[in-house]
Amino acid sequence: MRIAIIGTGYVGLVSGACFSDFGHDVVCVDKDERKIAALEKGVMPIFEPGLDQLVARNVAGGRLSFTTDLKTGVDGAEAIFIAVGTPSRRGDGHADLSYVYGAAREIAEALTGPAVIVTKSTVPVGTGDEVERILREVAPEAEAWVVSNPEFLREGAAIEDFKRPDRIVVGAEDERAAEIMREVYRPLYLNKAPILFTSRRTSELIKYAANAFLATKITFINEIADLCEATGADVQDVSRGIGLDNRIGPKFLHAGPGYGGSCFPKDTLALLKTSEDYQTPLRIIEAVVQVNDSRKRAMGRKVLKALGGDPRGRTVALLGLTFKPNTDDMRDAPSLSIVQALEDASVKVHAFDPEGVEQARPMMPNVEFFDSPYKAAEGSDAAVIVTEWDVLRALDLKRLARLMARPVLVDLRNVYPPEDVEAAGLAWHGIGKPPRDGGADEDVSAAA
Ligand code: NAD
Repeated sequence: MRIAIIGTGYVGLVSGACFSDFGHDVVCVDKDERKIAALEKGVMPIFEPGLDQLVARNVAGGRLSFTTDLKTGVDGAEAIFIAVGTPSRRGDGHADLSYVYGAAREIAEALTGPAVIVTKSTVPVGTGDEVERILREVAPEAEAWVVSNPEFLREGAAIEDFKRPDRIVVGAEDERAAEIMREVYRPLYLNKAPILFTSRRTSELIKYAANAFLATKITFINEIADLCEATGADVQDVSRGIGLDNRIGPKFLHAGPGYGGSCFPKDTLALLKTSEDYQTPLRIIEAVVQVNDSRKRAMGRKVLKALGGDPRGRTVALLGLTFKPNTDDMRDAPSLSIVQALEDASVKVHAFDPEGVEQARPMMPNVEFFDSPYKAAEGSDAAVIVTEWDVLRALDLKRLARLMARPVLVDLRNVYPPEDVEAAGLAWHGIGKPPRDGGADEDVSAAA
């Protein structure tokens, strides 16, 4: 089957590479000439484990190609996926749908034969209706159907998620469109991946409800972590204690510096805008957004507090910058708020990240970057684990302590047991555990 993917970013590139690996004939289209030129040379525009080999194998097999020319990509395609960005619209938090509608218009102009136009981008309820309106306006005679097929992959595990999804959701209003979508996903169907057919609006809402629920779970355990700190309980044990309950489940119960990334922040905001538009308040999600925003700011204060005394002129080493491990994505990463808080307090920031530096550099122009966690920590007054990259999970803590001007570790991911940190000669500060000095720690979120 011939497939076109419009937008070759995290989702478009992974989807295109995986579809071609299933045996489909895929063309990935992007407006960004540099991205396409790099891909044609075998250079990946993003870091995603295993992606370079997957792309190389399918390019070599003649099943995957890249172009900046949407017309060429769409020519003869039976399924055309829209995988362009839907960032927060500046000023109001609505999803910016200009890329989706722009792509829809271009697709409608380029259509050559019967096709489904599939929105894979995360889009608010009703977007498919507008894409359909554009299609009928631009190409009234076209035999084409508009389908919603939200993507649930996680950066860092994207290929595995795409190839072995928990479920595939397809929102189709027409049986012929549903047929084509069954054909697209047939290889996964054989793997017994559940495929859920719904109305288009329901499918659009499923994606937002899923992300809002996960953001809620994270925010819930983060607030419980604050209560643990205040009461002398241990959030890691609480997570385990509740996560073993099958009705709750253990995932997304790791307390940390607050959720970030390219999806949860913008999708929770966009869902709230939809709820406003339909005058149906989502008070839980409102609280989640507020709590998470203040938590990110509170993390900066937590680091400043760990420095003790006047922070001005001190140096802090941030270990890990991306919003989670195994991606280079810096969008809405908690590290951005922490850097801001530290620089506002005249603290000098050193940083190490295994993959994120290229994206981080323009976002943190005053930060000094190092290619090893030890070099970043050398001479600093505190080291902060912001992202739990594997390379940061087995640090030589004694070496770290020796290199630092003042041996202080702020472990925002609870990677290390406090006893191990202290045994290495470092003062420990973490998340959701009893303070080590005997007194209850300040509730850092209260003043946020
Ligand atoms: P991205 O910014 O990495 O990629 C989008 C790409 O689309 C860019 O390369 C851009 O140049 C291109 N583009 C924009 N308009 C175009 C046009 N008219 N023609 C051709 N190319 C065009 O975005 P992403 O992270 O891949 O996200 C895409 C969508 O998928 C978003 O709606 C996002 O919410 C959703 N999503 C993302 C993830 C994730 O983990 N990143 C997971 C699930 C869903």
